[in-house]
Amino acid sequence: MEVDPLAVRGRVHSVESFGTVDGPGRRMVVFCQGCPLRCAYCHNPDTWDFAGGSETSVAELLERFERNRAFYRGGGLTVSGGEPLAQPEFAGALFRAAHESPRGRIHTCLDSSGGAWDPCRPERFEELLAHTDLVLLDIKHSDPAAHRWLCGADQERILSFADELSARRLPVLVRHVVVPGITDSPRELRELGRLIARWDNVVGLDLLPYHTMGLPKYERLGIPCRLKDTPPMEASRMGELRELVLRARADERR
Ligand code: SF4
Repeated sequence: MEVDPLAVRGRVHSVESFGTVDGPGRRMVVFCQGCPLRCAYCHNPDTWDFAGGSETSVAELLERFERNRAFYRGGGLTVSGGEPLAQPEFAGALFRAAHESPRGRIHTCLDSSGGAWDPCRPERFEELLAHTDLVLLDIKHSDPAAHRWLCGADQERILSFADELSARRLPVLVRHVVVPGITDSPRELRELGRLIARWDNVVGLDLLPYHTMGLPKYERLGIPCRLKDTPPMEASRMGELRELVLRARADERR
């Protein structure tokens, strides 16, 4: 039986009506609730708990988008998290409804770590990936052991997800959070460049400086923050570090 995408419900942490940093143009950003990773630099630990947030339907979210449709011209709709891949049926229904909107196709962007991708059950993600226009993919660390320490999870799923996106030729913008002493060494940035060289569908690279604005959330939630003594990253260094990654990527692809 065909499921009406508008009736599908998911757990949502919050909705940002006027996002400008999660995809091109002005966007409505739906933050899904629940994440299987535990990144030391996460500034949204309040999105981790799968039982948190509130149940919301695709219809409610689409209605909210349509109320401000004119504002989103040149932009669109992003799902972020938490981890949207942990609710693939919900995110898939939302993107399908966005593409099939009677008022015109809405550009869709998936902001994900890939951490909930399940290569043994790719059919769960079919609708979502078929209706995704752009993926913002977080690559957190190039080294497997450091990745495990940083995120509390192996990187295999993430690399497998990136391989799947590449096989589908889905445009991917890679994002990498630069943390002083953890992900900012020239060696790590060159390794990152080599790692992403294998994917032809990478259309951009954003290096995001680590900031400490999430610390009060850890205190409020009583969660120990592993980076509480780590200073913020200097934003002015992003250009120079980005060049390092891009040079290593180009060398690897030569
Ligand atoms: S994947 Fe994102 S939401 Fe999940 S812990 Fe890492 S930074 Fe936080």
